[in-house]
Amino acid sequence: MNSNENANHCIACTVEQCAHHCKSDNYCSLDRILVGTHEYNPTEDSCTDCKSFVKK
Ligand code: SF4
Repeated sequence: MNSNENANHCIACTVEQCAHHCKSDNYCSLDRILVGTHEYNPTEDSCTDCKSFVKK
């Protein structure tokens, strides 16, 4: 079963390099994701990361 066909319209995502990304739509295929940060004191959006990312 290819989970990438099941777009979760509650999670928009443009990271096409992720294995969970829906190919034709800019959505995630997971039911939920984990968002975190690599910064000690995050101050802007680029400080945050999708921790559910998996390389294709
Ligand atoms: S796991 Fe994260 S990076 Fe991957 S498609 Fe879903 S939201 Fe995007």
